[in-house]
Amino acid sequence: MNVNRINMMSENSVRYWTSKKSKAVVEERRVELDLLIDFANADITTVAGQHLQTRVLDHLHRHPALHPHNRDWKLDDQLTTMLGSLQQRLRSRIASIVENKQMLGEMRMWQISGSVSFRLNPIENRFHERFQLRKVKRGNEINALKKIMDLWLIEIIRDLDFSPRRFGQCPRCDGFFYSPTAKERVYCSTRCGGAARQEKFREERRAEDH
Ligand SMILES: [Zn+2]
Repeated sequence: MNVNRINMMSENSVRYWTSKKSKAVVEERRVELDLLIDFANADITTVAGQHLQTRVLDHLHRHPALHPHNRDWKLDDQLTTMLGSLQQRLRSRIASIVENKQMLGEMRMWQISGSVSFRLNPIENRFHERFQLRKVKRGNEINALKKIMDLWLIEIIRDLDFSPRRFGQCPRCDGFFYSPTAKERVYCSTRCGGAARQEKFREERRAEDH
């Protein structure tokens, strides 16, 4: 009975402060997480991945945390190198979550320094908080973009508010994935799961034949 009462209280307190934004934000973040997972798994040397890369770069470039002086530069010359190192950063972040998802203790994953400014926004009639990175020197813009990538991943995870256990790496294709439901998954897709089952079946048959 006590437990029920506690549940009711926490439910009420949640209802006391709700934002109309929440639902739309969650939907948007789901789309963004899908995009990042696809980007992490994509072969960036192929043309097929190009649409994906454009969307990722566009988001990073427009991110409000990027210092205004670091917004104004062309990345055409070193595009492939840049994409490669952004993808590498993203993969290493997701991999570190997957490796530590058993959560044997509280663990710091990564850190981003910058400053937070707090403003009043008369147009939206709301408070406004803005985190901004420090300015980086010309030629080092990739470092700023990597930090924005880190930050973006934090923002997505924060807004989706789910268990770290939902992230995984497929033992068959090495692809990263997250589970949209609370049920833990081993393989990235039914295709990989099915193929792995078939392989196991064939191996068992072979073992029986000998
Ligand atoms: Zn797979």
